[in-house]
Amino acid sequence: PTAAYDPDNIFAKMLRDEIPCNKVYEDEHALAFHDINPQADVHILVIPKGEYVSWDDFSAKASAEEIAGFVRAVGTVARDNGLVVRGYRLLANIGRNGGQEVAHLHVHLFGGGPLGPMLA
Ligand code: 5GP
Repeated sequence: PTAAYDPDNIFAKMLRDEIPCNKVYEDEHALAFHDINPQADVHILVIPKGEYVSWDDFSAKASAEEIAGFVRAVGTVARDNGLVVRGYRLLANIGRNGGQEVAHLHVHLFGGGPLGPMLA
């Protein structure tokens, strides 16, 4: 079971502009920003704007428009940051076993050079 959404998580505070983030993209459904502790030359996080902790939450509760908007935003961020031509990695840590530290759904985008077997 997914824990209840905590509106005090750090990404929620970024969405409310209570703390700064190094923003790379924003639209109605998604926000993207550079990871504060980059694990690759390019390391960007993309989050949906809705209050979802996990992929389970998001896939079950988000509207088709929110889901499409988020998926499109990830593609746009990859394209606009030069990751598409040479390839990149998309990763989501979900829950305790997945090593999720921030309880607002996010995907990691890694790129900018050859990547090792696993990151984050
Ligand atoms: P998780 O393990 O939850 O998938 O990863 C959370 C990610 O958020 C980590 O890569 C971490 O560096 C990043 N992060 C944590 N706090 C902040 C912050 O305040 N600002 C930014 N830009 N990234 C953060």
